[in-house]
Amino acid sequence: MTVTQPMLDTRCAWCGFDAGLPIVSEHVHITNAQVAMEHAVGRCPQCARTTALARWGRDLRFSYKALEYKRLFRRSTWVAVYDVICAWCGSKATDPAEINVTVANPVSERFRYDLYACQTCGKATAISYLGELRTHCAIRDDVYRALWYLDPD
Ligand SMILES: [Zn+2]
Ligand SMILES: [Zn+2]
Repeated sequence: MTVTQPMLDTRCAWCGFDAGLPIVSEHVHITNAQVAMEHAVGRCPQCARTTALARWGRDLRFSYKALEYKRLFRRSTWVAVYDVICAWCGSKATDPAEINVTVANPVSERFRYDLYACQTCGKATAISYLGELRTHCAIRDDVYRALWYLDPD
């Protein structure tokens, strides 16, 4: 009897590999996903990195780079990594720095924010990601170091 490995029918979000990603985890909750749905995660046979996919109906698909944070004796946490352009200098060389930061002046109470660090200018960009990705210049409060402000003057 042959067992076929279930495949995730999407491109690798990291390297573009396009021949199907073997599924490593299903019914996954992504901490900072664009949609509150279960995702499936596949691992790329070419670059070994993971991509998450959620499907809505027949045509709507959300897929992103995903990182797994393994926790001792508990289920892994999965985090989406977005392609973020630095809101200060326009560089594409950004790395995720912090998930779900506290923002003093959010655009909407609904939004949650992640922080990305720019390799080019060193500054921080905050993103909100519900439905669509939005970026903001972000600065840290001088006193309360865990507090961030969007789009300072
Ligand atoms: Zn890949
Ligand atoms: Zn920058």
